[in-house]
Amino acid sequence: MQIRLGSRLGDVSLPASLVSELRAALGDTHVVSEPEQLRVYECDGLTGHRAVPELVALPSSTEDVQTVLRACHRARVPFVARGAGTGLSGGATPMAGGVVVSLARMNRILEVDLESQRIVVEPGVANLDVTLAVAAEGFFYAPDPSSQQVCTIGGNVAENSGGAHCLKYGFTAHHVTGLTFVLPDGDVVELGGKALDPDGPDLLGVIVGSEGTLGIATRITLRLVRTPQTIRTLLAGFRSMDAAGVAVSGIVAAGVMPSAIEMMDRLTIEAAEYAVAPHYPEGAGAVLLVELDGVVEQVEDDAAEIERICAECGAFEIRAAESDADRALLWKGRKSAFAAMGRIATDYYVQDGVVPRTRLPEVLRKIEELSAEHGLRVGNVFHAGDGNLHPLVLYDAEAGETEHARELAEAILDACLDAGGSLTGEHGVGMDKACSMPRMFSERDLRVFERLRRAFDPLGICNPGKVIPTPRLCGEVPGPYRLHALERIGVAERL
Ligand SMILES: Cc1cc2nc3c(=O)[nH]c(=O)nc-3n(C[C@H](O)[C@H](O)[C@H](O)COP(=O)(O)OP(=O)(O)OC[C@H]3O[C@@H](n4cnc5c(N)ncnc54)[C@H](O)[C@@H]3O)c2cc1C
Repeated sequence: MQIRLGSRLGDVSLPASLVSELRAALGDTHVVSEPEQLRVYECDGLTGHRAVPELVALPSSTEDVQTVLRACHRARVPFVARGAGTGLSGGATPMAGGVVVSLARMNRILEVDLESQRIVVEPGVANLDVTLAVAAEGFFYAPDPSSQQVCTIGGNVAENSGGAHCLKYGFTAHHVTGLTFVLPDGDVVELGGKALDPDGPDLLGVIVGSEGTLGIATRITLRLVRTPQTIRTLLAGFRSMDAAGVAVSGIVAAGVMPSAIEMMDRLTIEAAEYAVAPHYPEGAGAVLLVELDGVVEQVEDDAAEIERICAECGAFEIRAAESDADRALLWKGRKSAFAAMGRIATDYYVQDGVVPRTRLPEVLRKIEELSAEHGLRVGNVFHAGDGNLHPLVLYDAEAGETEHARELAEAILDACLDAGGSLTGEHGVGMDKACSMPRMFSERDLRVFERLRRAFDPLGICNPGKVIPTPRLCGEVPGPYRLHALERIGVAERL
């Protein structure tokens, strides 16, 4: 007999009545069920995990989302919200046989209130479009993931996304002041508003960063920030990562607050040069990209201080962007770094871990050692000011290196945790790191997370299998995914 594991919900199959109900409510063209079209939704940026959903619903309003979730709730069918699918932790990976709720049609900017420095958007609006909508008025939206041209505000809210300028301005959580939120049973709640400090418990704080496991955001109120008077972008080339790491600590210790401090190592510089030729210093073992913004006098003083610190730490070339085009090119090198790896390797795995800033040089050395031990190259590009590392493990899947790459990525994460860091800085836990949660949290911590989740979603239908490890499958055993005993002897399979 085959026992099917993998879902507390048991076998998932969509009742025909649910499909016809959704077609009637949303219109035929907004309910996708053709197998070849469903494949578009089988994974997010973590392409190693795939599952084909049974149906994709494309609502255009809060009421539509309520209709879809009510139908799923009644039929006990699991669902997952999807923005642009750029997530890197498998957060938007569907459950086989479940429903994907794509927010792609909900991409309107609903209100711009410059007096209150707020903007109200639907979840499918792309991150960069928020800034573009208000730039002419002298405002911008601060959280700036490198994927900002396509990733959506709904996805950013779910992942509490960050970006280069979050060092000074804070993460998504610091910029969301209100949400219209549809709960897994289809009820709708209004949380917060335009004020910074709403009354009652901080439910916004619970929802931002909950990775689509508590419900679906359908209307989001965001803070806007005034465009600074001036921006100065500096590039410093160092012979080694160690020297650049010490410079980062020096800058922070000096009390200067740049809006961004980004670091790239030799391999990443090489890939970026191939891909977009940003003209980083030749022969550099590391570059720092430091950006300052604010009033002119302060920025000039701080820039001089940073140049002094970098020179003292051994920078052999320091230059400032001379024009907007020059600045854009320097940033293009950094923002294209992930994709640029495609120029020097067939496959790569993006790790995302955090270390205390003061431990950066030590952890970077450890990564170098691990890379040599495993015989796989690792490129490092990261938000150095936040201690948020993104080691890129390069491998060749066709040569059978996938599992080996994964082991190396796990070992790097262990090094981050050993240094007092954490599992993820901004890409989320998703399905990728659910099994690693017990390395950082105790069983009691995980039970509390689970209870919170059940308070929102008693049936366990909202993005199941993400973030919190399913105890019987992997939660008891820290480390990478292992086969369950029943799977090993062939009497059970994972769905
Ligand atoms: C090249 C590249 C660079 C990247 N750089 C960065 C970076 O600098 N910083 C960073 O933080 N991330 C980065 N990312 C990761 C990714 O872009 C972010 O996590 C982003 O927020 C995901 O948005 P999305 O619209 O693609 O969401 P998706 O991938 O579609 O979904 C992500 C999660 O959000 C949930 N979700 C989506 N919409 C909603 C909603 N309306 N309500 C509730 N839950 C929802 C999904 O269920 C899923 O769990 C990068 C990714 C790539 C590919």
